[in-house]
Formats: sequence, C-alpha cells, structure tokens
Amino acid sequence: MSKNYIVGFPRIGEQRELKKVLESFWAKKVPFGEVKKVASKLKKRHWSYQKDAGIDYISSNDFSLYDNMLDTIILLGAIPKRFEDLKDEELYFAMARGDKTHTAMEMTKWFNTNYHYIVPELSLQDSFKANAKKIINEYLEAKELGIRTKINLIGPLTFLGLSKRDDRDDTYELFGKILPVYEEIIKEIGKLDDDITLQIDEPIFVKDLDTKVLSLIKTTYDRLSNVAPHVKIVVSTYFEHSNEATKILVNTPVWGLGLDFLYGKENMESLEVIAKSGKKLIAGVVDGRNIWKNNFTQTVKLLDEIAKTVSKENIIISSSCSLLHTPFTIKYEKNMDDEIKSWLSYGVEKLGEISLVTKLFFDGTKSLNKEELTLLEENKKANQNRKTSEKIHNQKVQNRVKNLTKLQRDTVFEQRIKIQRKLLGYKDLATTTIGSFPQTPQIRKARREYKNQIISKEAYEDVMKNYIDECVAFQDEIGLEVLVHGEPERNDMVEYFGEQLSGYGFSQNGWVQSYGSRCVKPPFIYGDISRPKPMTVEWITYAQSKTDKIMKGMLTGPVTILNWSFVRDDKPRDEVAKEIAVALSDEVNDLQNAGIKIIQVDEAAFKEGYPLRESKIPTYEKWAVENFKLCVSSAKKETQIHTHMCYSEFNDIIKTIEAMDADVITIETARSGNELLKIFKEVGYKQEVGPGVYDIHSPRVPSVQEIAKQIELLLEVLPKEQLWINPDCGLKTRKWEEVKPSLKNMVEAVKIVREKLN
Ligand code: GLN
Ligand code: ZN
Repeated sequence: MSKNYIVGFPRIGEQRELKKVLESFWAKKVPFGEVKKVASKLKKRHWSYQKDAGIDYISSNDFSLYDNMLDTIILLGAIPKRFEDLKDEELYFAMARGDKTHTAMEMTKWFNTNYHYIVPELSLQDSFKANAKKIINEYLEAKELGIRTKINLIGPLTFLGLSKRDDRDDTYELFGKILPVYEEIIKEIGKLDDDITLQIDEPIFVKDLDTKVLSLIKTTYDRLSNVAPHVKIVVSTYFEHSNEATKILVNTPVWGLGLDFLYGKENMESLEVIAKSGKKLIAGVVDGRNIWKNNFTQTVKLLDEIAKTVSKENIIISSSCSLLHTPFTIKYEKNMDDEIKSWLSYGVEKLGEISLVTKLFFDGTKSLNKEELTLLEENKKANQNRKTSEKIHNQKVQNRVKNLTKLQRDTVFEQRIKIQRKLLGYKDLATTTIGSFPQTPQIRKARREYKNQIISKEAYEDVMKNYIDECVAFQDEIGLEVLVHGEPERNDMVEYFGEQLSGYGFSQNGWVQSYGSRCVKPPFIYGDISRPKPMTVEWITYAQSKTDKIMKGMLTGPVTILNWSFVRDDKPRDEVAKEIAVALSDEVNDLQNAGIKIIQVDEAAFKEGYPLRESKIPTYEKWAVENFKLCVSSAKKETQIHTHMCYSEFNDIIKTIEAMDADVITIETARSGNELLKIFKEVGYKQEVGPGVYDIHSPRVPSVQEIAKQIELLLEVLPKEQLWINPDCGLKTRKWEEVKPSLKNMVEAVKIVREKLN
C-alpha cells in the first residue's frame, strides 16, 4: 500500500546544473539540445532520489526549465498576443525574460515564499487550447525508468486567481473558457495509464477567498473528477489552512486532499468532514520550506492526533509543501561546523525523514532496520543537543530581551523633527540616495579575495576605502546634501549583518531557486542573536571623516533580516526578531556616539512578511512595528532615523508604516507616478517622505526636465517641507556611467524647482 508522498521536488540541480546550462544557452555557448540533455539527466536523478528513499508518490511535471506557472500558460495555450511570431524554446524564454523585440511577462512572488512565478496575462479575446505535450512526455520519461509518477498540475482557480487581466469582472467568463481546456488535459492524462494520480495545486485556497472563487470550487472539481474516473485527483494546498475550500471539496468526487498541518495548523478543524467523506488525506507534516531536522517524536504525535479522527488507512504522509523551497542536499556542506550541520536537513534528507516517519507511524520502531535505527538515534541526539547547545542558548541575550525597559524613542515625532531640522540644517527637498553605489568588478574581486585569504585585511580595506573616497568625492562634487558611503563592503544587505551576528549560520551550497536560473543562498538563524562588536561604525565614520556634509549610517532592519533568512523553528519568529532588534539598537547607539547624525534602517522586506490570512495580519503588524521601534529606541531625539522600503503599494499598510515612527521614509514610486502617493495625503501622513523620483531598475538616464516634472507632481500631493528627493532604491546594480549623469540631473532638477518655488 502506498503511504507517503512528496508535493514536489526542487529542479535546479544539486550543483545548480540547470542554472549553468540555461545561462550557457542564453549566452549562445551551447545549443538547446544541451539544455534538454541536462534536464533529462536531472529528472532521472531526482526520481531516483525519491525512489531510493522509499517515497511512494513521486512527482512528474514538477520539473521546469524556468517556472511551472509559465509551463501552465503554455499548457493552456494562454500565450499573450505579442509573442505570436515565436515558437518553441524561443517563445518560452522570450515570455520569461523578454528579448530585443518582446517585453517579458511580469514576475511576482509565489505566496509568502521567495520563489517568483511568471504572471499569466489573460484576456477574453484569447482562445485557449490544450497542449499537454510536456506532461505526457515527462510521465512517459519516468515510466520508461520504471516509475509511475503522480502528475503535478497547477489548478484552474489558482491559475485564474493569480493572473493579470484587463478586467477583474470577467472571472466567470474566463473560467468558462479555461475549464474545458483542463478537462481536455485530464482526458489526455487518462489515456496514459489505467490507474493514475493527479495532484492539482490550488494554493489560492489558503487565502481569504472571495465569494466568486468559492462559488466555483464545486463545479470545477465535480467536472474535473468526472472526466476520467480512473484519474485520482488530489487537490493540494500549502502554506496555510484551507478550511473553507475543504468543506466544499469533500462534497465533490475528488480522491484526496493535500493539507499543510505545519503552517496551517487550523486544518485540524477539517479532519472531521474529511473523515466523514472517506477521502484520502495527504498530510503535510514534514516541513518542506525550512532546513531543520525533523523531530520524529513531534511528527508522530501530530499524526496520532490526526488519526484520532481520520482512519489510518486513509492517511498518506507528505511534505508540507513542495521541496522547491529548500536547498538540495547537505552532502556538499564541507565547511560547516559539525554540530550545526547535525541539526540540518535539506531536500534529499527530508525524503529520508518522510520515509522514516512513515514506518514509525504505521508500523512502530520495531519495523526499523539497523540503519534506520541508527538514523533515528542520531536524530534524537541532534534534537536533544539543539535544546541545550551553548551555540544556541545564550543566557545573557535571553535576560536582556526579557528585561527590556526602553522599547521606543522618548520624544514624539513632532518634537524630534523640529530639533533635527534646526540641528541638521537641511533644506526642503533635501537630496540623498538610498545607500549603495555600483558594485564594480574591482570591489567584488577584493571582497572575494579577502574572504578566500588571497589578500590581506589591509589590502582589502585599502580597496574599500578608495572606493568610499570616490563615492564621497562624487557626491560632494555634484552637490548632494545627505551623503552615503556606498556599501562596497556588503555582498548582500542581510548576509553582511548575518555574518557579524552570533547565532547566524551560512551554507556553502544551500541554493534555493528564486526565479528562472536565479538562486539565492539564505543565511540561517540557529541560535540566540547577539552582536559581538560594532558592525558598520568603522566604515561610516571613515566616510564621515571625508566630508563636512552629513553622512548617513546604513543598517538593515530586524524584520527584513528575519524575512530573508531561514529562521530557527524552536522559538517564535517575533522573539527572534526582537533579539535582532536589540542587537541593532546597540549599533544605532554606537553610530550616534561616533558622531553619525542620520541613520537609515532599511526594511525592504517588511511587506513581504505579511501573513496570507487577513486575520493574522494584526499580530504580524504589531510585532513587526514594535521590533522596528525597538531597534531605533536608542536613537536620541537629535538623531534622525530614516527607513527605506522597496515597493509602492502602501494603501493597505499606510497606518502601519506611520506607526513605525521613522522620521523619514524613502520609497519606490517612480514607476507608478504620484497616483499611489495620494494615500499619504489622504491619511494626513505626518513624517517626511522621499518618493523615488527615477527608476533605478532601468539603465536609462532620466533628464533634468523629466525629474523636475516628477518633483512638481510630488508637490501637488505633499508640501515641500515634507519631501525628500532621491532615487527609487539602491544603485548597486547600475553602472557608474548611468549613475553619475542620473544623480547630477536629479540635483540639477531640485535646483530648478527650488528656484521656481522661491
Ligand atoms: N541600502 C540598500 C541599498 O541601497 C537598500 C537596498 C534595498 O532596499 N533593497 O542597496
Ligand atoms: Zn529598495
């Protein structure tokens, strides 16, 4: 009997083979045939990993050359008109990345993960048509190797729900056009075998559903289940509970439901209706999106709890979501501290865990062979060790966090800003930048060589200081008013701080796909966080010593540091954020004591951390705001605190942003004009605002007139006393040839506008 299951497996390859071959192909160094060869090698390897681990339901069609939402667009023939002239791989990659004559499709984050999917563009004018080639081929590819896979498919309601459309009112009509295409596809799938499992992913069901979507669930799954009754449909959700949808799905003929019991504990409330329906429950109980070893005792306990309601023979044990969101395998981590390594488990290791949990739950310890018993023993030890290890538990940190008395700044904004304006003496429409300047090959090389001990600390610092000198001189020369040091010493805005905080770990090969061929290697928080010594003070004070103007200190905020790391699972996230905030508050204090008058605390990922369910938002907002405030609580009233956020949609969260109580916020608005800014006026936003006046994501140099016009538009919405003038975001991805004229033009534009105002 089949007892366990994987929602999906990562595809980029344990040595990022897919990334490498794709990039060679895009650079025209290898033909497309090479990509196909690597792809089939990878699929084969991934299937054998799953098979060898003893997984019963192994997936196909979870592989993708770029993105599985993009694959679904092809599958449904939902290709936007502008790509009409293309076909095959040329079409596929043009949709994903654009080419000389085609703009790429948009890309956005997949729920609350850091994976980005291609956003479907749908229009009622389109005619959709099934193209199931990829699904069929991948199934047959596996079958040839003796593996009958479960097929993965993104569901129609999620596909529709995540699409971009001309008109949000066309849901029913679009649905009417798309559903028959899905039926067509299932018919094709039905021809593949006489017994076949089809996983239909509907993660949209974990959001607060609007009535339209809710009203479509029953029809959809009645119809899809009736196409070919021997195709057993599992509707799979993850990252949260999907109780509303479950209630409906139990009254359709689907075969099973896949639920996440780790990130959607409320799914427990659905057990009764599931039990009554007699459907299979694919129980997501092994964490698919973190890197910690499973705790078998806890997992079996959870399964026992589930089994009180749903009968054991209807339970199938699964990962909580696709393993796409976790790195591949721990086996390449050669430099990691052994103790820390013993706490971790990546994708391949998680397969082993699922398999072991299956035996433990269904047959008990006595069913384990010697190897498995050793594994279990090791696992117990590792989990025990995590509870007591000195690397994790720092009494000093815990005491300090527990006994905090100062949680925010003493003075209110209205008072602070008067003092700051007088002391700092900046004008209305003060000019500044967001922090980083172009990361040149020279500074990257110096960082790399210093890390690999090829050059000395002195040599490295010389390169950095020279770069800072140039940045400061340039800013001085063009007349910017609040300067930055340029961040040459930072590889990444989170990693840089992680590397200097105790309690943080780094992997060598912990790559996770972010989009297409791009992977990220998030650092991980394993222990109590503390700051052994100042992290930025030397660089910033050095930069300050080179100018009479104000040098802005630059930090990454606690919420962003948390959201861009793998976080320990043995402590609530808000408590971890608090420890980071306390460490950062010491940095803020050290900076101001060293004479730094303005400090920017970036919260680029503040919005990203928002929960999927409306009802959970207030709790998140509360601790996110509290920890930001805690982090700057050490700032004196004379010290001006800036923050920066990388997006423009503030409508829902404007009051929360205001509650963070930063003196100045710089934000991204260049691409959306001042439409989105109106909200600041509507709510009577108090603090100062620097809406980006040009788009740094493009290499184009904006003209003086253009920027001046943009500033005038801003002035229609906000008074000059409240406005700062700056680019959209940091400049590290740009070239100096672009940055220099752009900033010059920005300063020039401010001059013109100021003259007019006088
Ligand atoms: N200070 C950072 C920089 O300028 C901010 C980056 C970001 O917001 N993503 O690069
Ligand atoms: Zn930004």
